[in-house]
Amino acid sequence: TEFASLGLIEPICRAVAAEGYTAPTPIQAQAIPALLEGNDLLGIAQTGTGKTAAFTLPILQHLTEDNRRASPKSMRALILAPTRELAIQIHESFQTYGKHLKLRATVIFGGVGQNPQVRALSRGIDVVIATPGRLLDLMNQGHVALGDVGVFVLDEADRMLDMGFINDVKKIAAKLPKDRQTLLFSATMPQAVTGLAQGLLDDPVQVEV
Ligand code: AMP
Repeated sequence: TEFASLGLIEPICRAVAAEGYTAPTPIQAQAIPALLEGNDLLGIAQTGTGKTAAFTLPILQHLTEDNRRASPKSMRALILAPTRELAIQIHESFQTYGKHLKLRATVIFGGVGQNPQVRALSRGIDVVIATPGRLLDLMNQGHVALGDVGVFVLDEADRMLDMGFINDVKKIAAKLPKDRQTLLFSATMPQAVTGLAQGLLDDPVQVEV
């Protein structure tokens, strides 16, 4: 299939086919090969372009390859989203596209009790999708181990800034390993987002759709 020719492994292609996707969207066609190679990425894209799968599929593939090396279950991918609704959608995408893989993802957001979230983290997790405020709360309480995070995604960075999350995002990013892959998606590129991207990304591939 066209997804296989982007370099994606069979269990991921099978899950994508089951969703009825016949061909990658433009952002997927451009971003997936670059991400599989380990590049940082600046994605300028609106919702509806297929950007969630563009980052979810390569992350699932990296984690699966990493699992063959029998590493323990530790948080290795962190995705930050500005709203609970978006975080939940991204989590659902990980479940859908990862249904043939043995990976665990969980979603963390504010406005609900934190205990189930703390328990999910302590059981061992591969992927965490979070809103910044609650993640920072849990970090400050010592519930979050970030030392194995190899992929960091900032989704809808412009909305993140509009909602006042910039300082939280910077505090979280400062705690991540320096040796990591970083992806930043934004529908618009105001100066503040450009500045954030310059601080977080290392020689990124830029994709604009
Ligand atoms: P997103 O931009 O990530 O919010 O995705 C928008 C919608 O497009 C979601 O409902 C996806 O299920 C769908 N979608 C993503 N990739 C594809 C594809 N390659 N072909 C058809 N639909 C897709």
